[in-house]
Amino acid sequence: MKKFNLVTLPGDGIGSEVVEGALKVLRTACKQHDIELNIQEFPFGGISFDKHGTPATDEAIEACKESDAVLLGAVGGEKWDHLTGADRPESGLLKLRSELEVFANFRPVKVYPELAHASTLKEEVISGVDILIVRELTGGIYFGKPRETNRSVDDPYSFDTMRYHQSEVERVAQKAFEAASTRNQTVCSVDKANVLGSSRFWRDTVIEFSKKYPEITLQHMLVDNCAMQLIRDPKQFDVVLTSNLFGDILSDEAAMLTGSIGMLPSASLGNGPGLYEPVHGSAPDISGQNKANPLATIASAALLCRYSLGLEQVAVEIEQAIQDTLSAGYRTGDIYTGSESETLTGTEEMCNQVLKALGEFNKAETA
Ligand code: NAD
Repeated sequence: MKKFNLVTLPGDGIGSEVVEGALKVLRTACKQHDIELNIQEFPFGGISFDKHGTPATDEAIEACKESDAVLLGAVGGEKWDHLTGADRPESGLLKLRSELEVFANFRPVKVYPELAHASTLKEEVISGVDILIVRELTGGIYFGKPRETNRSVDDPYSFDTMRYHQSEVERVAQKAFEAASTRNQTVCSVDKANVLGSSRFWRDTVIEFSKKYPEITLQHMLVDNCAMQLIRDPKQFDVVLTSNLFGDILSDEAAMLTGSIGMLPSASLGNGPGLYEPVHGSAPDISGQNKANPLATIASAALLCRYSLGLEQVAVEIEQAIQDTLSAGYRTGDIYTGSESETLTGTEEMCNQVLKALGEFNKAETA
Protein backbone atom coordinates (compact mmCIF):
# COMPACT_ATOMS: atom_id res chain seq x y z
CA MET A 1 0.00 0.00 0.00
CA LYS A 2 1.36 3.44 -1.00
CA LYS A 3 1.43 6.06 1.76
CA PHE A 4 1.75 9.83 1.54
CA ASN A 5 2.03 12.60 4.13
CA LEU A 6 -0.03 15.69 3.48
CA VAL A 7 -0.49 18.95 5.36
CA THR A 8 -3.75 20.89 5.15
CA LEU A 9 -4.01 24.58 5.97
CA PRO A 10 -7.73 25.44 5.72
CA GLY A 11 -7.09 29.08 6.70
CA ASP A 12 -9.83 31.70 7.00
CA GLY A 13 -13.38 32.33 5.77
CA ILE A 14 -14.62 29.74 3.30
CA GLY A 15 -11.18 28.08 3.39
CA SER A 16 -12.22 25.54 6.02
CA GLU A 17 -15.49 24.72 4.22
CA VAL A 18 -13.89 24.02 0.84
CA VAL A 19 -10.86 22.18 2.23
CA GLU A 20 -13.07 19.88 4.32
CA GLY A 21 -15.03 18.88 1.21
CA ALA A 22 -11.95 18.51 -0.98
CA LEU A 23 -10.32 16.27 1.63
CA LYS A 24 -13.30 13.91 1.66
CA VAL A 25 -13.03 13.61 -2.12
CA LEU A 26 -9.25 13.16 -2.01
CA ARG A 27 -9.40 10.49 0.70
CA THR A 28 -12.13 8.58 -1.12
CA ALA A 29 -10.36 8.71 -4.49
CA CYS A 30 -7.07 7.53 -2.93
CA LYS A 31 -8.75 4.80 -0.88
CA GLN A 32 -10.24 3.35 -4.07
CA HIS A 33 -6.66 2.79 -5.23
CA ASP A 34 -5.45 1.46 -1.89
CA ILE A 35 -3.47 4.60 -1.15
CA GLU A 36 -3.17 5.79 2.46
CA LEU A 37 -2.97 9.46 3.36
CA ASN A 38 -1.57 10.72 6.66
CA ILE A 39 -2.94 14.21 7.06
CA GLN A 40 -1.83 16.87 9.53
CA GLU A 41 -3.83 20.08 9.84
CA PHE A 42 -2.60 23.46 11.13
CA PRO A 43 -4.26 26.84 11.65
CA PHE A 44 -2.94 29.30 9.08
CA GLY A 45 -3.53 32.97 8.23
CA GLY A 46 -5.75 35.14 10.43
CA ILE A 47 -6.97 32.21 12.51
CA SER A 48 -3.34 31.32 13.31
CA PHE A 49 -2.62 34.93 14.26
CA ASP A 50 -5.54 34.83 16.74
CA LYS A 51 -4.28 31.60 18.28
CA HIS A 52 -0.49 31.93 18.10
CA GLY A 53 0.25 35.60 17.34
CA THR A 54 1.62 34.79 13.88
CA PRO A 55 -0.09 33.86 10.58
CA ALA A 56 2.40 31.04 9.97
CA THR A 57 3.92 29.19 12.91
CA ASP A 58 7.36 27.57 12.59
CA GLU A 59 5.66 24.26 13.41
CA ALA A 60 3.26 24.59 10.45
CA ILE A 61 6.02 25.67 8.05
CA GLU A 62 8.31 22.81 9.13
CA ALA A 63 5.50 20.26 8.73
CA CYS A 64 4.80 21.60 5.22
CA LYS A 65 8.49 21.31 4.29
CA GLU A 66 8.57 17.71 5.48
CA SER A 67 5.33 16.69 3.75
CA ASP A 68 4.72 15.32 0.26
CA ALA A 69 2.31 18.16 -0.54
CA VAL A 70 0.25 20.95 1.03
CA LEU A 71 -3.43 21.74 0.43
CA LEU A 72 -4.42 25.28 1.41
CA GLY A 73 -7.83 26.98 1.53
CA ALA A 74 -7.56 30.77 1.68
CA VAL A 75 -6.38 33.44 4.11
CA GLY A 76 -7.46 36.92 5.13
CA GLY A 77 -10.58 38.86 6.06
CA GLU A 78 -11.74 42.17 7.49
CA LYS A 79 -10.98 41.10 11.05
CA TRP A 80 -7.26 41.14 10.26
CA ASP A 81 -7.17 44.09 7.86
CA HIS A 82 -5.70 46.39 10.56
CA LEU A 83 -2.59 44.19 10.91
CA THR A 84 0.64 45.26 9.24
CA GLY A 85 3.85 43.64 7.97
CA ALA A 86 4.61 40.08 8.99
CA ASP A 87 1.41 39.86 11.08
CA ARG A 88 -0.84 40.04 8.02
CA PRO A 89 -2.42 36.73 6.90
CA GLU A 90 -1.11 37.31 3.34
CA SER A 91 2.45 37.59 4.72
CA GLY A 92 2.07 34.08 6.11
CA LEU A 93 1.21 32.85 2.62
CA LEU A 94 4.18 34.64 1.02
CA LYS A 95 6.43 33.19 3.72
CA LEU A 96 5.13 29.69 3.04
CA ARG A 97 5.66 30.03 -0.74
CA SER A 98 9.16 31.29 -0.18
CA GLU A 99 10.07 28.60 2.41
CA LEU A 100 8.81 25.89 0.05
CA GLU A 101 10.68 27.58 -2.84
CA VAL A 102 7.75 27.03 -5.17
CA PHE A 103 9.01 28.89 -8.22
CA ALA A 104 6.46 27.72 -10.80
CA ASN A 105 2.77 28.51 -10.51
CA PHE A 106 0.46 26.34 -12.61
CA ARG A 107 -2.97 27.69 -13.31
CA PRO A 108 -5.09 25.47 -15.55
CA VAL A 109 -7.93 27.33 -17.24
CA LYS A 110 -10.46 24.82 -18.47
CA VAL A 111 -13.90 25.74 -19.69
CA TYR A 112 -16.40 23.01 -18.89
CA PRO A 113 -18.99 22.72 -21.70
CA GLU A 114 -21.81 22.96 -19.13
CA LEU A 115 -20.54 26.36 -17.96
CA ALA A 116 -19.58 27.85 -21.31
CA HIS A 117 -22.68 30.06 -21.25
CA ALA A 118 -21.77 31.40 -17.78
CA SER A 119 -18.78 33.37 -19.14
CA THR A 120 -18.98 36.99 -20.24
CA LEU A 121 -17.47 35.89 -23.57
CA LYS A 122 -19.33 34.25 -26.45
CA GLU A 123 -19.87 30.51 -26.03
CA GLU A 124 -18.32 29.64 -29.42
CA VAL A 125 -15.13 31.52 -28.46
CA ILE A 126 -14.57 29.77 -25.16
CA SER A 127 -16.04 26.28 -25.42
CA GLY A 128 -13.24 23.75 -25.50
CA VAL A 129 -10.65 26.09 -23.96
CA ASP A 130 -7.99 24.15 -22.02
CA ILE A 131 -4.96 26.31 -21.20
CA LEU A 132 -2.21 25.80 -18.65
CA ILE A 133 -0.58 29.05 -17.57
CA VAL A 134 2.87 28.51 -16.05
CA ARG A 135 3.95 31.64 -14.21
CA GLU A 136 7.38 32.21 -12.68
CA LEU A 137 6.54 32.89 -9.03
CA THR A 138 9.60 33.79 -6.98
CA GLY A 139 11.65 36.13 -9.19
CA GLY A 140 11.32 39.06 -11.59
CA ILE A 141 10.13 42.54 -10.73
CA TYR A 142 8.24 41.47 -7.58
CA PHE A 143 11.51 40.53 -5.90
CA GLY A 144 14.28 42.24 -7.94
CA LYS A 145 16.70 44.61 -6.21
CA PRO A 146 17.50 47.46 -6.04
CA ARG A 147 14.11 49.07 -5.50
CA GLU A 148 13.53 52.51 -4.13
CA THR A 149 11.01 55.29 -3.65
CA ASN A 150 12.41 58.73 -2.91
CA ARG A 151 9.91 61.50 -2.20
CA SER A 152 12.35 63.93 -0.60
CA VAL A 153 14.01 65.28 -3.77
CA ASP A 154 12.85 68.02 -6.14
CA ASP A 155 11.37 65.52 -8.55
CA PRO A 156 10.45 62.42 -6.48
CA TYR A 157 10.96 59.04 -8.11
CA SER A 158 10.40 55.34 -7.63
CA PHE A 159 11.74 52.25 -9.37
CA ASP A 160 11.67 48.46 -9.19
CA THR A 161 14.04 46.05 -10.88
CA MET A 162 13.10 43.28 -13.29
CA ARG A 163 15.97 40.83 -13.03
CA TYR A 164 16.07 37.20 -14.15
CA HIS A 165 18.95 34.79 -13.78
CA GLN A 166 19.41 32.10 -16.40
CA SER A 167 18.84 29.39 -13.78
CA GLU A 168 15.53 30.97 -12.75
CA VAL A 169 14.24 31.01 -16.34
CA GLU A 170 15.48 27.49 -17.04
CA ARG A 171 13.87 25.87 -14.00
CA VAL A 172 10.43 27.31 -14.70
CA ALA A 173 10.82 26.55 -18.43
CA GLN A 174 11.55 22.95 -17.51
CA LYS A 175 8.26 22.70 -15.60
CA ALA A 176 6.40 24.15 -18.60
CA PHE A 177 8.05 21.82 -21.13
CA GLU A 178 7.44 18.79 -18.90
CA ALA A 179 3.78 19.74 -18.61
CA ALA A 180 3.52 20.33 -22.38
CA SER A 181 4.90 16.86 -23.06
CA THR A 182 1.83 15.39 -21.29
CA ARG A 183 -0.54 17.71 -23.19
CA ASN A 184 -0.52 19.05 -26.78
CA GLN A 185 3.27 19.41 -27.14
CA THR A 186 3.19 23.18 -27.50
CA VAL A 187 4.63 25.98 -25.34
CA CYS A 188 3.95 29.65 -25.98
CA SER A 189 6.52 31.79 -24.16
CA VAL A 190 5.19 35.29 -23.46
CA ASP A 191 7.48 38.31 -23.03
CA LYS A 192 8.02 41.92 -24.04
CA ALA A 193 11.19 41.31 -26.05
CA ASN A 194 10.57 44.27 -28.37
CA VAL A 195 11.17 46.69 -25.47
CA LEU A 196 12.77 45.00 -22.44
CA GLY A 197 16.30 43.62 -22.26
CA SER A 198 15.24 41.22 -19.50
CA SER A 199 12.57 39.87 -21.88
CA ARG A 200 15.09 39.39 -24.70
CA PHE A 201 17.24 37.46 -22.19
CA TRP A 202 14.16 35.44 -21.15
CA ARG A 203 13.40 34.61 -24.81
CA ASP A 204 17.02 33.62 -25.66
CA THR A 205 17.21 31.43 -22.56
CA VAL A 206 13.92 29.67 -23.36
CA ILE A 207 15.02 29.08 -27.00
CA GLU A 208 18.32 27.54 -25.86
CA PHE A 209 16.60 25.45 -23.18
CA SER A 210 13.93 24.20 -25.63
CA LYS A 211 16.63 22.22 -27.50
CA LYS A 212 16.32 19.62 -24.73
CA TYR A 213 12.71 19.07 -25.81
CA PRO A 214 12.82 18.73 -29.63
CA GLU A 215 9.34 17.18 -29.70
CA ILE A 216 7.77 20.35 -28.22
CA THR A 217 6.84 23.23 -30.53
CA LEU A 218 7.96 26.54 -29.04
CA GLN A 219 6.24 29.79 -29.97
CA HIS A 220 6.80 33.32 -28.71
CA MET A 221 4.26 36.06 -28.21
CA LEU A 222 4.48 39.61 -26.94
CA VAL A 223 2.49 40.13 -23.77
CA ASP A 224 0.24 42.85 -25.22
CA ASN A 225 -0.70 40.59 -28.12
CA CYS A 226 -1.25 37.66 -25.73
CA ALA A 227 -3.67 39.75 -23.66
CA MET A 228 -5.64 40.38 -26.85
CA GLN A 229 -5.43 36.81 -28.20
CA LEU A 230 -6.69 35.34 -24.91
CA ILE A 231 -9.96 37.14 -25.49
CA ARG A 232 -10.05 36.88 -29.31
CA ASP A 233 -9.16 33.20 -29.73
CA PRO A 234 -8.18 31.47 -26.46
CA LYS A 235 -8.36 28.00 -28.02
CA GLN A 236 -5.04 28.63 -29.82
CA PHE A 237 -3.16 28.25 -26.49
CA ASP A 238 -2.01 25.10 -24.73
CA VAL A 239 0.85 25.81 -22.28
CA VAL A 240 1.65 29.49 -21.72
CA LEU A 241 5.02 30.15 -20.05
CA THR A 242 5.67 33.61 -18.64
CA SER A 243 7.32 35.73 -15.98
CA ASN A 244 5.94 36.74 -12.61
CA LEU A 245 4.47 40.12 -13.55
CA PHE A 246 3.02 39.12 -16.93
CA GLY A 247 1.69 35.84 -15.50
CA ASP A 248 -0.05 37.62 -12.65
CA ILE A 249 -2.03 39.74 -15.10
CA LEU A 250 -2.62 37.17 -17.84
CA SER A 251 -3.78 34.45 -15.44
CA ASP A 252 -6.44 36.72 -13.94
CA GLU A 253 -7.57 37.69 -17.42
CA ALA A 254 -7.74 34.03 -18.44
CA ALA A 255 -9.69 33.24 -15.26
CA MET A 256 -12.61 35.20 -16.62
CA LEU A 257 -12.95 32.70 -19.46
CA THR A 258 -14.27 30.08 -17.06
CA GLY A 259 -17.17 32.08 -15.66
CA SER A 260 -16.39 31.87 -11.93
CA ILE A 261 -13.39 32.22 -9.69
CA GLY A 262 -14.90 29.34 -7.69
CA MET A 263 -13.84 26.96 -10.49
CA LEU A 264 -10.11 27.76 -10.67
CA PRO A 265 -7.45 25.54 -9.07
CA SER A 266 -3.73 26.22 -8.81
CA ALA A 267 -0.49 24.42 -8.09
CA SER A 268 2.77 26.03 -7.01
CA LEU A 269 5.74 23.80 -7.66
CA GLY A 270 9.42 23.73 -6.85
CA ASN A 271 11.80 20.87 -6.22
CA GLY A 272 10.18 19.85 -2.92
CA PRO A 273 6.57 19.62 -1.72
CA GLY A 274 4.04 21.43 -3.91
CA LEU A 275 1.47 23.91 -2.62
CA TYR A 276 -2.09 23.51 -3.95
CA GLU A 277 -4.82 26.09 -3.46
CA PRO A 278 -7.92 27.50 -5.12
CA VAL A 279 -7.33 30.83 -6.84
CA HIS A 280 -10.10 32.55 -4.87
CA GLY A 281 -9.78 34.22 -1.49
CA SER A 282 -11.60 33.69 1.81
CA ALA A 283 -14.88 35.20 0.49
CA PRO A 284 -16.04 36.70 3.81
CA ASP A 285 -19.37 37.68 2.20
CA ILE A 286 -20.47 34.03 1.95
CA SER A 287 -18.35 32.46 4.69
CA GLY A 288 -20.12 30.04 7.08
CA GLN A 289 -23.25 29.95 4.92
CA ASN A 290 -22.65 26.71 3.03
CA LYS A 291 -22.63 28.70 -0.22
CA ALA A 292 -18.99 28.40 -1.38
CA ASN A 293 -18.19 26.51 -4.55
CA PRO A 294 -15.76 23.73 -3.48
CA LEU A 295 -14.83 22.70 -7.06
CA ALA A 296 -11.70 24.88 -7.31
CA THR A 297 -10.30 23.21 -4.17
CA ILE A 298 -11.36 19.74 -5.29
CA ALA A 299 -9.63 20.38 -8.64
CA SER A 300 -6.56 21.59 -6.70
CA ALA A 301 -6.57 18.22 -4.89
CA ALA A 302 -6.56 16.53 -8.32
CA LEU A 303 -3.49 18.59 -9.29
CA LEU A 304 -1.86 17.55 -6.01
CA CYS A 305 -2.29 13.91 -7.01
CA ARG A 306 -0.91 14.57 -10.50
CA TYR A 307 2.10 16.75 -9.76
CA SER A 308 3.22 15.83 -6.22
CA LEU A 309 2.07 12.24 -5.68
CA GLY A 310 2.47 10.92 -9.24
CA LEU A 311 -1.10 9.57 -9.12
CA GLU A 312 -2.30 10.53 -12.60
CA GLN A 313 -5.19 8.06 -12.61
CA VAL A 314 -6.54 9.41 -9.30
CA ALA A 315 -6.27 12.95 -10.67
CA VAL A 316 -8.17 12.00 -13.82
CA GLU A 317 -10.90 10.30 -11.77
CA ILE A 318 -11.40 13.35 -9.55
CA GLU A 319 -11.55 15.62 -12.60
CA GLN A 320 -14.03 13.30 -14.28
CA ALA A 321 -16.18 13.33 -11.14
CA ILE A 322 -16.24 17.15 -11.25
CA GLN A 323 -17.25 16.99 -14.90
CA ASP A 324 -20.01 14.43 -14.17
CA THR A 325 -21.37 16.53 -11.29
CA LEU A 326 -21.66 19.54 -13.60
CA SER A 327 -23.20 17.38 -16.34
CA ALA A 328 -25.80 16.20 -13.83
CA GLY A 329 -26.77 19.87 -13.37
CA TYR A 330 -25.54 20.58 -9.82
CA ARG A 331 -24.53 24.22 -9.30
CA THR A 332 -23.48 26.39 -6.39
CA GLY A 333 -24.78 29.99 -6.49
CA ASP A 334 -21.77 31.42 -8.34
CA ILE A 335 -22.38 29.19 -11.41
CA TYR A 336 -26.18 28.88 -11.18
CA THR A 337 -28.06 30.53 -14.04
CA GLY A 338 -31.59 29.43 -13.10
CA SER A 339 -32.05 27.11 -16.06
CA GLU A 340 -34.45 24.16 -15.60
CA SER A 341 -31.68 21.60 -15.99
CA GLU A 342 -29.78 23.02 -13.00
CA THR A 343 -30.12 22.19 -9.30
CA LEU A 344 -28.93 24.85 -6.86
CA THR A 345 -26.81 23.25 -4.12
CA GLY A 346 -24.70 24.28 -1.15
CA THR A 347 -21.03 23.46 -0.51
CA GLU A 348 -21.71 20.20 1.32
CA GLU A 349 -24.16 18.87 -1.23
CA MET A 350 -21.81 19.73 -4.10
CA CYS A 351 -19.04 17.73 -2.40
CA ASN A 352 -21.44 14.84 -1.82
CA GLN A 353 -22.38 14.85 -5.50
CA VAL A 354 -18.69 14.72 -6.50
CA LEU A 355 -18.22 11.81 -4.07
CA LYS A 356 -21.22 10.08 -5.62
CA ALA A 357 -19.85 10.65 -9.14
CA LEU A 358 -16.50 9.29 -8.01
CA GLY A 359 -18.17 6.11 -6.77
CA GLU A 360 -20.11 5.71 -9.97
CA PHE A 361 -17.05 6.38 -12.08
CA ASN A 362 -15.21 3.55 -10.36
CA LYS A 363 -18.16 1.17 -10.58
CA ALA A 364 -18.27 1.78 -14.36
CA GLU A 365 -14.51 1.20 -14.61
CA THR A 366 -14.61 -2.12 -12.81
CA ALA A 367 -17.82 -3.41 -14.47
P1 NAD B 1 -12.44 36.56 -2.92
O1 NAD B 1 -11.87 35.67 -3.95
O2 NAD B 1 -12.42 36.08 -1.52
O3 NAD B 1 -13.96 36.91 -3.31
C1 NAD B 1 -14.31 37.62 -4.50
C2 NAD B 1 -15.79 37.33 -4.84
O4 NAD B 1 -15.88 35.98 -5.35
C3 NAD B 1 -16.72 37.38 -3.63
O5 NAD B 1 -17.96 37.90 -4.03
C4 NAD B 1 -16.87 35.93 -3.21
O6 NAD B 1 -18.10 35.64 -2.57
C5 NAD B 1 -16.76 35.20 -4.55
N1 NAD B 1 -16.13 33.89 -4.37
C6 NAD B 1 -14.84 33.64 -4.10
N2 NAD B 1 -14.63 32.31 -3.98
C7 NAD B 1 -15.82 31.73 -4.17
C8 NAD B 1 -16.26 30.38 -4.15
N3 NAD B 1 -15.43 29.35 -3.91
N4 NAD B 1 -17.57 30.13 -4.37
C9 NAD B 1 -18.43 31.13 -4.62
N5 NAD B 1 -18.08 32.43 -4.65
C10 NAD B 1 -16.79 32.72 -4.43
O7 NAD B 1 -11.67 37.96 -3.02
P2 NAD B 1 -11.82 39.28 -2.11
O8 NAD B 1 -13.25 39.47 -1.70
O9 NAD B 1 -11.12 40.34 -2.85
O10 NAD B 1 -10.94 38.97 -0.82
C11 NAD B 1 -11.46 38.48 0.41
C12 NAD B 1 -10.31 38.15 1.34
O11 NAD B 1 -9.56 37.07 0.79
C13 NAD B 1 -9.32 39.31 1.54
O12 NAD B 1 -8.92 39.32 2.87
C14 NAD B 1 -8.17 38.96 0.62
O13 NAD B 1 -6.94 39.49 1.06
C15 NAD B 1 -8.17 37.45 0.71
N6 NAD B 1 -7.57 36.76 -0.44
C16 NAD B 1 -6.84 35.66 -0.18
C17 NAD B 1 -6.30 34.91 -1.21
C18 NAD B 1 -5.54 33.65 -0.87
O14 NAD B 1 -5.63 33.17 0.23
N7 NAD B 1 -4.79 33.08 -1.80
C19 NAD B 1 -6.53 35.28 -2.54
C20 NAD B 1 -7.31 36.41 -2.80
C21 NAD B 1 -7.84 37.13 -1.74
